Amino acid sequence: MTSHDAKASDPVDAGRLGLALSELRLPTIKAVWPDLAARADKEGWPAARFLATLAEHEAAERARRRTERHLDEARLPPGETLDTFDFEAVPMVSKARIMALAAGLDWLEQGANLIVFGPPGGGKSHLSAALGMALVENGRRVLFTRTTDLVQKLQIARRDLALEAAIAKLDKYHLLILDDLAYLSKDQAETSVLFELIGSRYARRSIMITPNQPFGEWGKIFPDQAMTLAAVDRLVHHATIIEMNVESYRRRAAIEKKRGPGRPAGRATIKNSA
Ligand code: ADP
Ligand code: MG
Repeated sequence: MTSHDAKASDPVDAGRLGLALSELRLPTIKAVWPDLAARADKEGWPAARFLATLAEHEAAERARRRTERHLDEARLPPGETLDTFDFEAVPMVSKARIMALAAGLDWLEQGANLIVFGPPGGGKSHLSAALGMALVENGRRVLFTRTTDLVQKLQIARRDLALEAAIAKLDKYHLLILDDLAYLSKDQAETSVLFELIGSRYARRSIMITPNQPFGEWGKIFPDQAMTLAAVDRLVHHATIIEMNVESYRRRAAIEKKRGPGRPAGRATIKNSA
């Protein structure tokens, strides 16, 4: 019997429906339809509303699972979110600007870059991880990695004559967060895979870097001057640059603590000591 022959009053074979929903890969509808159907019957929903509600459940659950997968693959350090980032400690960083970047619509479309300068302990990693998390929650794909770890992987790929493929595989990420750029060793081979990555993503896919030295010092970090200049050029061409000109947050927090009780409110003091 096909459904064309069915009468409205015929009972539904729940077992068969369950199998069909599994085959169609609609696990959420399969899970929620009995309760929803009972409610729809009781409240007299039109059929279209029932169907729309089922579809919404499936779509919402899929989006939730996708975000979960993307959060997983992003390898973000735990706990470093925008909520836990104290913007008052970095008055030169505009919260509104960071929130606009976290929405991620335009700059990621354009493959623009983000460069966060600041001394060690200034909050660069925290801010970039927090931005990464917000972007994943907004449906983008992100990879957070220490620069040396990624460079090592790319060097292995090159040894296996698979560098191009390895770089292409990173295209699925709208944003690569290369943390601790300055701790790369001065090895020519290391920098050349990094610069190839930068060249490949240029104006297509975004990179975020967190150098603790200004570009002027890069000539000392990287061996090949011409290659370094070209890479810096590509990085800054479509880039937002954020300067975190603050003393180490940890150091300031420690000084705070030492001052002991009776001090003014933590936040205000941290700001004033900057
Ligand atoms: P950097 O990457 O610039 O060396 P981190 O982001 O690792 O600095 O910051 C060092 C520590 O201080 C981290 O534990 C971080 O969470 C914390 N921290 C730094 N800046 C802030 C801030 N503005 N608000 C809250 N925590 C911060
Ligand atoms: Mg860091």
